[in-house]
Amino acid sequence: MKPSLLPAISPPRRILMGPGPSDISPRVYAALSAPTVGHLDPYYLKVMDGMQEMLRQVFQTKNELTLAVSGTGSSGMEACVVNLIEPGDRMLVCVNGVFGMRMADVATRAGAEVTTIEKEFGEIFSPEEIAEAVEKCNPKVVGIVHAETSTGALQPLEEISKIVHDAGSLILVDCVTSLGGIPVKVDEWNLDAVYSGTQKCLSCPPGLAPVTFSPQAVQVMDERKSKVASWYLDMSMVRQYWGGSRAYHDTAPINMNYALYEALRLVLEEGLENRFQRHMKNHLALKAGLKELGIEYSVPEGQQLPMLNSVFIPDGIDDAQIRKQLLNDYGIEIGGGLGPVKGKTWRIGLMGVSSEHSNVIQLLTALGQCLNQAGKNVDVKAAIAVAHAVRSNG
Ligand SMILES: *Cc1c(COP(=O)(O)O)cnc(C)c1O
Repeated sequence: MKPSLLPAISPPRRILMGPGPSDISPRVYAALSAPTVGHLDPYYLKVMDGMQEMLRQVFQTKNELTLAVSGTGSSGMEACVVNLIEPGDRMLVCVNGVFGMRMADVATRAGAEVTTIEKEFGEIFSPEEIAEAVEKCNPKVVGIVHAETSTGALQPLEEISKIVHDAGSLILVDCVTSLGGIPVKVDEWNLDAVYSGTQKCLSCPPGLAPVTFSPQAVQVMDERKSKVASWYLDMSMVRQYWGGSRAYHDTAPINMNYALYEALRLVLEEGLENRFQRHMKNHLALKAGLKELGIEYSVPEGQQLPMLNSVFIPDGIDDAQIRKQLLNDYGIEIGGGLGPVKGKTWRIGLMGVSSEHSNVIQLLTALGQCLNQAGKNVDVKAAIAVAHAVRSNG
């Protein structure tokens, strides 16, 4: 019997307000569907050069070794770790959420002698705590997450970076969720190895990981005694394709790179400062509205990420039920909590294209109605009014 033809791809319309992916601009979709050329075509090589130039602007760096690794954000994490770590090297990983845990796992697999310092989910590290840990274990590399998407907490980096360098170590930073949403000043903060992803505040489909390495990090890589444990992510070869001899390494995901190129153009067209302000403004409007609905943030004021709003689920409200209702009845995706806060928090993303005032209003309206249906008695109109007011008051 002839098997029946499966239905064509026809995804439902969603408003992506979870922890990523975020909504995509039509211009990025158009770039994605442009004709594929060869990975060594002169046109494509120019695209790569332009991409590196734009990535340097977005990372606020002059680092020569700045490119997009093929693979999602986690491949950027892996690329940074395996290129800096040789078996037996000591690495300190700061763990206050799921992605710090993942980094420690990656470092262990890379053969590092890993020490972790840990904080409760939602808390951040003080410079003193880092100083103490660095002094104790004298690591080659310190790994830390800038924007912990699992908890919604923002980790300041500038002072920590100074402490790490004063101790003669390198700092490796996860900027998957922060890049394009809040300042990531690679040169000013003196960060050595930084990775990001495409599908958070850059609003591009998942599939690439922007990375940048300081001259000090490149020197450490050049002085390695052993080969990088991953063939695919070995920067000594990947960089030849992006910069030097243009030697074939792998068949680049050409169209994904077109998409990121256009997404970066959009970021720079808007301007970094404007973009950061937009993320902040929509976060403040959402926060005011949520407060009116009786919903509190799980991260203290001053440490909250504007692009990832982690809030406590009100008492007596069923996590999965409300998220299902938001998705099915309103087409809105939000995220649930991870790890120890599973079932206790929601994660509401306002990333990239999704960070839009109309999305804030739609979410408040939908969530307010869901809560009332579930037996609460919240004032949806008031929530919308305060969100609008925050917008008009700048
Ligand atoms: C999403 C995310 C990652 C992982 O990226 P993938 O694209 O899912 O591989 C790593 N770190 C942080 C902070 C993230 O938010």
